Amino acid sequence: MEPIYNFSAGPAVLPKEVLQQARDEMLDWHGSGMSVMEMSHRGKEFMSIAARLETDLRELASIPPNYKVLFLSGGASSQFAMVPMNLVRGKKSANYINTGQWSTKALKEAKKYCAVHVAASSEDANFTYAPTQDKWNIDPEGAYLHYTPNETIGGVEFNWIPDLSGTDIPLVADISSAFMSRPLDVSRFGLIYAGTQKNVGPAGLCIVIVREDLIGTTVPGTPTMFDYKIHADNDSMYNTPPTYAMYITGLVVEWLKQKGGLQAMEKINIAKARLLYDFLDTTDFYHCPVAKPDRSRMNVPFTLKDPGLDEEFLKQARTHGLIQLKGHRSVGGMRASIYNAMPLEGVKVLVEFMKEFASNHA
Ligand code: PMP
Repeated sequence: MEPIYNFSAGPAVLPKEVLQQARDEMLDWHGSGMSVMEMSHRGKEFMSIAARLETDLRELASIPPNYKVLFLSGGASSQFAMVPMNLVRGKKSANYINTGQWSTKALKEAKKYCAVHVAASSEDANFTYAPTQDKWNIDPEGAYLHYTPNETIGGVEFNWIPDLSGTDIPLVADISSAFMSRPLDVSRFGLIYAGTQKNVGPAGLCIVIVREDLIGTTVPGTPTMFDYKIHADNDSMYNTPPTYAMYITGLVVEWLKQKGGLQAMEKINIAKARLLYDFLDTTDFYHCPVAKPDRSRMNVPFTLKDPGLDEEFLKQARTHGLIQLKGHRSVGGMRASIYNAMPLEGVKVLVEFMKEFASNHA
């Protein structure tokens, strides 16, 4: 059977080795007589899995000691509310950069808790680029600045970190779809959050990395479960955390370490993205709408010249083992998500298929 290459935007492809290990450990984890799914989150077995996950993640991502790492449920979408609830800290407003559907959702939710100042937006060009910082108009009184380093739907990625040095405005990032895809200087951020279901695990877990001096003050009426300090003080065990998702994420983090860490991942991710974009730029049968410097290494949206061929493209792709290429329901076209676990070979097969399809339908 031909290999299957899964280009889903998330939940997404996981490393085969991780799935095989999970299969082998499914009924009896390390001689405990239990599946990880059956363990008490407070028992010594699961506590060891949780501790290892945090240690490995801290090492892999070089997370400084003055940052808390929280393992939460509720998806990245809950963070759209948790961020303002915890980080407004008595201020009146917060800055947001709007580069697409995910940042729009984040800033809409924040409006429930503070005034939102949109410091920059790429809506003028249908969210196809990342506004450079010289065009930003930051409210210096804003409690923080939130941006989305990688817009999963639009395929727009910041290839630079905003520079807020000289201000006391913490930088906040929804890095869901670029998490652990390249090295990141965590110390530049006040808070970063990511749903794990793209680059590092299954759905159900959201990782929040937050500088510890920023937590402890919440807006009145904040539910206990939405208070970062509660989770930090209880080592993410205030309630039952998503144990199985944490276990699988731990295995992926170990896999990333074995692969050579984030520098090695970045190299492979650059090679994959380059292969696909270089091809897209040689043809007018396909089109990628995103400005060249801001093209995402993770999510590559493209359209066919004739949208009437979309269904046929997807059907034939499937027969070549290339699945989940359909674009987001709001934008149509195609989207190839090429996260960490997508091998270079998968992108090669995709490009060869795209060439063949184009020449057969020229
Ligand atoms: N932010 C970004 C950038 C995303 O890609 C997604 C999910 N696609 C979300 C937030 C929402 O994540 P969740 O479904 O885990 O709430």
